[in-house]
Amino acid sequence: MSKKASSEKQASRNSQTQGTDFFDTHIAQYERALQHIDVLPHVRLILGQPKNEIIVNFPVKLDNGEYQLFTGYRIQHNNIMGPYKGGIRFHHDVTLNEVKALAAIMTYKCALLEVPFGGAKGGVALNVHKFSRSEVEKITRRFTHDLGNNIGPEYDIPAPDVGTNSQVMVWMMDTYMNMHNLSDKNAQRRIVTGKSLTSGGSRGREKATGQGVVYSIQEWADENNFRLDGATYTLQGFGNVGSHAAAILSKLGASLVAVMDHTGSIANEEGINVRKLTEHVKATGGVRGYTSCNDVTADEFWAMKCDICIPAALELQIDERVASMMNCRLIVEGANGPTTLDGERVLIEKGIEVIPDLMANAGGVVVSYFEWVQNKRSESWQLQEIDERLHFMMRRAYHDMRAFAREHNTDNRTAAYAVAVGRINSVYGERGIFP
Ligand code: GLU
Repeated sequence: MSKKASSEKQASRNSQTQGTDFFDTHIAQYERALQHIDVLPHVRLILGQPKNEIIVNFPVKLDNGEYQLFTGYRIQHNNIMGPYKGGIRFHHDVTLNEVKALAAIMTYKCALLEVPFGGAKGGVALNVHKFSRSEVEKITRRFTHDLGNNIGPEYDIPAPDVGTNSQVMVWMMDTYMNMHNLSDKNAQRRIVTGKSLTSGGSRGREKATGQGVVYSIQEWADENNFRLDGATYTLQGFGNVGSHAAAILSKLGASLVAVMDHTGSIANEEGINVRKLTEHVKATGGVRGYTSCNDVTADEFWAMKCDICIPAALELQIDERVASMMNCRLIVEGANGPTTLDGERVLIEKGIEVIPDLMANAGGVVVSYFEWVQNKRSESWQLQEIDERLHFMMRRAYHDMRAFAREHNTDNRTAAYAVAVGRINSVYGERGIFP
């Protein structure tokens, strides 16, 4: 297998089997947390499945005049804590089970961070790179149209995820506004978050997930008397999360020694210049071919000795085989669900600590919440204020997670789930079930 094909295999998944695995993996992680807390029997059942699963099949006329049918999903896992919230993924491997797992993760992420939202996720199965800009716009608008009243500014609020960006969010917003010809159009801007700054987005939203990854690492470093200046790290994925995390880590003196993305893997033990790599990725679409680095295989990437590894691509990347090769102290999950159950078992055996997705990548939804509040109040906050608020919320959640882990002698993921589920359980306890 060529180097490129092997890393593509690594960074991709078989949509039929892996999608199922991901929801099963998530359920196993959720159930592990239930062993540590008293949860009402009906809450266990409710949280084990999403409340609503919306599937739409919709046609789009392509540039060549032909029609193609797309399948889109919006899974609304739970809204007891607030409106449904979560990203929209455009990726060829999108499946129902994958989106179900991602929606549930959003519920717990918001509960852990004390963001007053529930959890949802959407996706369309397509390879964005194979469609023109105008085709992606049409797909976005028709998908938004067909979701109809299943989304709404006080009901279910989409955001960017893998394969989508602020432009896609602005198209969703514009479509929604045109569908609902209301006099208070501007008040509807908060139908989506992650918009461009010019169309009602928030300062700091674009870098928010990467910024949150770094705040999580800083908390861990403080707790462990670890110096980030001079530390080494590897990064899987150089998209929104990975590139922003790397840019911020450079300022703190940490050194990027290897990167993998969908085009290949590169390494340089002396450190990779993040600014120059970012320019290369903007120009060519991937890390492959960046000079001043060696091309390495996927296995060599994972086995690279470093202090910290940041998986910031897709789910189910660190399985038993990969985990057994890894040679780092800490894994920080910039992606959602990058570690399999067997992978996690090996990491625990090897004493490699994990800051789980619920905690590590929560910066995105936290600043989405700030964007939603700013839109609602017609305010525009300064970046410093946003960063301070984000830092405070990340730090609080990190210490809630660590306190539980210490008290119950368990791993961070189990602790993060347990704190989140415990909060949701308390609300169900107070409110009861209708009728
Ligand atoms: N897609 C991001 C996530 O997985 C952000 C979601 C949001 O901002 O609503 O957390």
